[in-house]
Amino acid sequence: MSIDLYTARTSDVGGIPVARLLPNKGKKNIGAWCFLDHAGPARFQADEKGLQVGSHPHTNLQTFTWMLEGEVLHKDSLGNEQVISKNQVNLMTAGTGTSTGISHTEQSVSGDTGNVLHAVQLWIALPTDQNIQPSFINYPELPMWEDAGVRYTLTTGSYQSSEAHSHTAPTLQYSPLVGVDMQFDTDTEVNLFMLPSFEYGILVVEGEVEFNGTTYGQDELIRLSDCGSSTDSQAPAASTLLKGTKGTHLMLLGGEPLPHQTLIWWNFVASSKADIEQSITDWNNQHPRFGHIDTQLKRLVAPKLPQGFKG
Ligand code: MN
Repeated sequence: MSIDLYTARTSDVGGIPVARLLPNKGKKNIGAWCFLDHAGPARFQADEKGLQVGSHPHTNLQTFTWMLEGEVLHKDSLGNEQVISKNQVNLMTAGTGTSTGISHTEQSVSGDTGNVLHAVQLWIALPTDQNIQPSFINYPELPMWEDAGVRYTLTTGSYQSSEAHSHTAPTLQYSPLVGVDMQFDTDTEVNLFMLPSFEYGILVVEGEVEFNGTTYGQDELIRLSDCGSSTDSQAPAASTLLKGTKGTHLMLLGGEPLPHQTLIWWNFVASSKADIEQSITDWNNQHPRFGHIDTQLKRLVAPKLPQGFKG
C-alpha cells in the first residue's frame, strides 16, 4: 500500500473558513473524486447573509454536497429549488460533452437566530466516454449504522461493516465510488473495508487519527493506493487499522481511477484543454447549454485560461 499525505490550502470565503484538499498541486485525484473542500463550521448572525454564490456553470462533473450542519438553498438551470439539510447529500450532474452543461446558485438559509454552515463539498469527474445527461437529486435518507462506538453514514456506494453486513447508498454513480462518514463516540480502533481496485482518501474533519504509526489532524487527507491485500481479496489488509479518539470525525472516500485525464479550470472539468476553452467561451456568451436560473444573485464570469495551462 502507498500512503501520501495531502495538506490543505486554507482561505476565507465570505466569512466561511475553507480548507481545500483537492485539487492539490502535484497530487492525484482519489478515484474520480477531483475536488474536495471542507467548509466551516461558520456561524452567522441573523443579519448576516452567509453563503451567497451567484450563478455559475459546471461541465463533465457531479457536485456532491455532504451537509454536516446548517441549511443551504440550491437553485439550478433544470428548474430545481432544494434546501439541503444536515445529514443529506445533494448531487448535481452536469452531464458530459461540449453541448451539455448546467448552472446553479447556492445560498445560506437564514433562521431567526442566524445560521451555521458546515459541509464537505466534493466534485466527481464524469467519464467523458459516456453520454451523460444533466440531473439533480437530493438524498434525504442514507444508510446509517453504529458499530463498536463509531457512527457511520454511507453517502455513496457500498460498504461492508465489521459484522460483514453490506450497506448500499441510493446515490447515482457513473464510476465505482464510496463515501463513508465516520464519527467516533469513544476512543477506539476500526478496520477499514477496502477494495483492491480502489484508491482511498481519509479526510480528518475533526479530531485526530493514528494510522500506520503516524498521527493525523484536522484537515489532513491521507491518500492510500495499491490497496490489494496479499491472499484473501475480501479481507481488509492489517495496515488499514485506524485508531480514533472520542469526538473524531472522518470521511472515507474511495473510487476507481477514470481511464482518461481530468483537467480542472474554474468550475469546469474536461478531458481536453480545447473543451475547457469551449466552455469558457460558451458560458461568457450566455450559450443555452447552461440554461437559465431565476435569481437576484450576480452571474459569475469565467476567467481565461492562463498561458501555459497544460492539457
Ligand atoms: Mn457549483
